[in-house]
Amino acid sequence: MSARLATELKALFGERSVVAEPNRCQQYSGDWSGLKGRTPALVIRPESTEQASAIVARLYRLGVPMTLRGAGTGKAGGCIPSIDSVVISTELMTGTPVVRTNDLTIQSAAGTLAAEMDEQAALHDLFYPPDPNSLAISSIGGNVATNAGGPKAVKYGLTGHYLLGLTFVGAQGDVVTTGAQTIKSVAGTNLPGLLLGSEGTFGLITDVTMRLIARPQAVQTALLTFNSTADAVASVGALFQTGLMPRCAELLDEISCDTIAQRQSHALPERCRAAIILETDGSSEQSLDELLTLTQAANPVDTLVAQTPAHRERIWAPRRDLSIALSDRRNLKVSEDIAVPRSRLSAAVETIRTAAAETPFEIATYGHAGDGNLHVNILFDQEEQRCEVEALQDRVFQIAIELGGTITGEHGIGLAKRHALPWEAGTTRMNLERRIKSAMDPQGLFNPGKVLEP
Ligand SMILES: Cc1cc2nc3c(=O)[nH]c(=O)nc-3n(C[C@H](O)[C@H](O)[C@H](O)COP(=O)(O)OP(=O)(O)OC[C@H]3O[C@@H](n4cnc5c(N)ncnc54)[C@H](O)[C@@H]3O)c2cc1C
Repeated sequence: MSARLATELKALFGERSVVAEPNRCQQYSGDWSGLKGRTPALVIRPESTEQASAIVARLYRLGVPMTLRGAGTGKAGGCIPSIDSVVISTELMTGTPVVRTNDLTIQSAAGTLAAEMDEQAALHDLFYPPDPNSLAISSIGGNVATNAGGPKAVKYGLTGHYLLGLTFVGAQGDVVTTGAQTIKSVAGTNLPGLLLGSEGTFGLITDVTMRLIARPQAVQTALLTFNSTADAVASVGALFQTGLMPRCAELLDEISCDTIAQRQSHALPERCRAAIILETDGSSEQSLDELLTLTQAANPVDTLVAQTPAHRERIWAPRRDLSIALSDRRNLKVSEDIAVPRSRLSAAVETIRTAAAETPFEIATYGHAGDGNLHVNILFDQEEQRCEVEALQDRVFQIAIELGGTITGEHGIGLAKRHALPWEAGTTRMNLERRIKSAMDPQGLFNPGKVLEP
């Protein structure tokens, strides 16, 4: 069937829209989660909403399962084929995003790299704030499908806070344009919100319209150092008692700082056992005033304020390279991204530390402390230990839920956390989500085996 379908689709949409060679298809069997999926029978790469609609209509009629894929940078296995399926990739649905300066909006095809949104906005002195660390390699459609966030989420929120409207291809190839090009629209249910974070289970997003805001004139950055992880985490609470809003407050715990120090590729101050990277923005004067007030409230042992853009880059560099640095510290690593209410940060870090102390593993906890989103990395040595590691991962999920938080603040459920979603969502919500899924995708052909399916 796939050979016949490939020939038919090539005839309709051209050679470059269809990948059928097994070695090329194999490149679509994984993402950045480390999970391995099946090699898809075919990869189809539509170049427009119309093509995507025709392809989905054809596959829907044939009852062929479809795995939807953006740039494949997901960390939860959401775009990995978990059963025999055809991959539909948005990689050819690209183009320069269109900025409408009077409307303060930006519109883009789904496959465009997310970094282009702010690059285009900046040309007009406007600002697209969502900043997942994968900005340069992930697609804007993927960012919407996972509601991606990043270090600036503490002040500016997630991708979803900027979503005004989108077009998607749903069951039977139906093209639905929903939301509006206006800042305000309350005409009917918020359907863009339904697609937001749907991880490819409701249909293929092909085009998005996002809100832009005024670009801050200046950014100030400081490295605040502390004697312990507990002191650094406690300082986050103090920051927010000032009534000011930092644009980033990133935690580096003791194991993270030790890892950076051992690698010697980035210098940390000598007495830095744990740290917070603090950033403010606004006008030059206001952002500096706010940085100094926040720093005073945090009461660090030492403070390093960036004096130049290069210095600012040097402060951020160890944080940016941390994930790779931790991979080198022990043979193996798994990484979680729980979030807890900010008031429960200290409890979360301490309870996780206690749980890890009962195991042979190290845990490095770092990340977006300002919004309660922690990257919890379990470091271990041997593949045979994986069962024990998974038990600790599950304990981390339970700690997050017990503290009123969530099992994933950024990366989504995908394949990786399917088993844990019911712990957080409970039966009534899971049943409601399954009824919504079956209304959106009656034959269950979009991204089978993901998110809601055990
Ligand atoms: C180095 C690195 C750093 C990262 N940092 C962050 C971070 O700071 N914050 C964060 O939130 N995430 C981060 N991520 C995770 C990842 O980049 C995001 O989840 C991103 O939004 C995925 O986009 P993508 O285009 O790669 O989507 P993919 O990985 O291809 O797909 C992800 C999910 O979205 C669905 N999907 C993709 N495109 C569409 C579409 N057009 N229509 C419908 N469904 C679709 C897929 O089916 C899948 O379920 C990081 C990843 C890496 C590798």
